[in-house]
Amino acid sequence: MAEHTRAAVLTAPRRLELVARPKPVAREGEALVRVAATAVCHTDLEIYIGRHPGVRLPRVMGHEATGVVEAVGPGAGRLRPGQRVLLNPIIACGSCDCCARGRGNLCRRAGLFGREMDGSLAEHVVLPERYLYPLPEHLSLTKATLIETLATVRHAQERARIAPEEFVVVLGQGAAGLLHTQLAKLSGARKVVAVSRSPAKLALARRMKADEVVDASRQDVVAAVREATDGRGADVVVDAAGAPALLAPALEMLAPGGKLLLYGISHRPVADFTTFPLYFKELTIYGSRALTPEDVGPAIALVAEGAVDLEGFITATYPLERAAAAFDDYERAPGSILRLVIGPGE
Ligand SMILES: [Zn+2]
Ligand SMILES: [Zn+2]
Repeated sequence: MAEHTRAAVLTAPRRLELVARPKPVAREGEALVRVAATAVCHTDLEIYIGRHPGVRLPRVMGHEATGVVEAVGPGAGRLRPGQRVLLNPIIACGSCDCCARGRGNLCRRAGLFGREMDGSLAEHVVLPERYLYPLPEHLSLTKATLIETLATVRHAQERARIAPEEFVVVLGQGAAGLLHTQLAKLSGARKVVAVSRSPAKLALARRMKADEVVDASRQDVVAAVREATDGRGADVVVDAAGAPALLAPALEMLAPGGKLLLYGISHRPVADFTTFPLYFKELTIYGSRALTPEDVGPAIALVAEGAVDLEGFITATYPLERAAAAFDDYERAPGSILRLVIGPGE
């Protein structure tokens, strides 16, 4: 009789069912991974409540995941059973024009593990070996789920190329915003200003070496940025909040020649937008999508070396059986949760 494994299947919006399935088998070039932990992000929440366009149910969610290799298929020689790994969830075709240019994150047939295909809210997953990255023994597999987000943050900052001596503003201090704050500091930015409406997140931002924090619920952010930059404006604004209403003030707080990095995303239209500041201050706007394989190794190294601090990012952990409770808690208070992690852990 085939061995079984369990997965949390989203069968309808807000309905997660724990289902027993035959345990997958690693074929040519693949590895079977026992999932240790999956962090839940805003993308998952959108899928859970049925608001993510184009996701077909039933679906097993989960893309920010770590685990331990249980078996490898024929021809898979890079990993060994027992190896701790991080999953790269950006599944690219490898043959379209974008993949050929080394930009698999823009693959014309790309899918996200846990969105276009079944993901890691399960006891086991099978993936081609190239999507699995070895993790050092000393890293917690629960905390290491954050490395996927860190890799997307690194990818975004590589595009905007923060130079030393630049003034950087990070709008939003959720998990990604806090990582943006840390990476901007590591890139040698002259000053990093962290903006949030949450005093708790601003306290974390301070611990993560933000030079100044601005409470957007009580302060005029544009004026505060002007003051923090000696009146000249920011060189780089990172939008890690993604609210359409932030676009106009983000452009306003930029210095001439400044760069706006759009990391947070929204499907909602932007009202009252004018391109005039783009012309007048000759601004550059960067979009950034997901991560490339080249971002994963450096992101692991940043955490392994202790350069990036992941303490305090995980608000709560849940066993797979309580995955629905995790999503319900997240939906109730998305603003006060950084990351919820589902899975058995180590
Ligand atoms: Zn995510
Ligand atoms: Zn492709």
